[in-house]
Amino acid sequence: MNQHITLNNGMSIPALGFGVFQSAPEETTAAVEQALNAGYRHIDTAAGYGNEREVGEAIRRSGIERNDIVIETKVWVSDYGYDETLHAFEKSATKLGVAQIDLLILHQPMPQHFERTVQAYRALEQLLTDGRVRAIGVSNFMPNHLAALREQTEVVPAVNQVELHPYFTQPNVQRANAEHGILTQAWSPIGGITFYPGWGDDTRRSMLDDETIGRIAEAHGKTPAQVMLRWHIQEGRSAIPKSTNPERITQNIDVFDFELATDELSDIDALDRGVRGGPDPDEVDPSTWDLTIPEA
Ligand code: NAP
Repeated sequence: MNQHITLNNGMSIPALGFGVFQSAPEETTAAVEQALNAGYRHIDTAAGYGNEREVGEAIRRSGIERNDIVIETKVWVSDYGYDETLHAFEKSATKLGVAQIDLLILHQPMPQHFERTVQAYRALEQLLTDGRVRAIGVSNFMPNHLAALREQTEVVPAVNQVELHPYFTQPNVQRANAEHGILTQAWSPIGGITFYPGWGDDTRRSMLDDETIGRIAEAHGKTPAQVMLRWHIQEGRSAIPKSTNPERITQNIDVFDFELATDELSDIDALDRGVRGGPDPDEVDPSTWDLTIPEA
């Protein structure tokens, strides 16, 4: 059981998808198979995650009709540029083992090289025209990046996937997305970013232990993760929680049998601290991470 959201091009996607960032390749196939068994029909991966092959393998093993699963993947910044991005599509499609990618998005804007970002997006537009992808979008685009992109390209992105959880709700980005008819898709929807290895800062509390979320979870007989996912869905966002743990994979999609009250939604909204856990989108370029996407 899942709710669906209609994108600005008429394509329908499940409101709740499944993320595989930091899922080790050797764990990814089992996790995605588990997710598909549990009822997820939307998988979010990225060329930069190094596990597209394993996602494709799980989809084939599941025996579920290809058309019943939404595959979303992302082009990494080192592959930006028109020809480079067309080639990036070939790399991802080959690794996934599919002829068509459902939702292909730019992983980050490259503010320092915005013309290459625009060329990359024009390649996505071409792939859309050619029927190689069903929808295109962006990730980590702030309102100024969206405005600049809109000035230089034709197709309005279908989604903007951004860091969004109770401690960082980016109301300005949500507003800009809504104004353009772009679906806001939440990454780190249950605050996974706070589990980033290597932060080494004990003051970064997990929002799974947040008192307000805990109180609401208790009132509904649900877990904090389920409450956060329900909050996203009731506020109209797509969310793509990640887990490699079978119980948590199942738990995270079991969020369609309860309803948060208006005051509970606003109590969660009020937890926003305005501080991001992930990288600042204005500071990303190919030198930020040493990442070259291998050939298929
Ligand atoms: P997340 O989904 O908010 O949280 C994942 C973390 O929470 C993992 O450590 C997971 O551990 C744990 N977890 C999962 N379910 C749980 C539950 N029910 N109770 C307690 N802990 C639970 O964070 P994320 O992986 O950073 O983000 C989700 C997806 O968004 C990614 O996988 C990726 O697809 C996408 N993403 C995109 C970007 C971007 O730049 N576009 C950046 C980051 C992420 P276990 O695996 O052990 O359960």
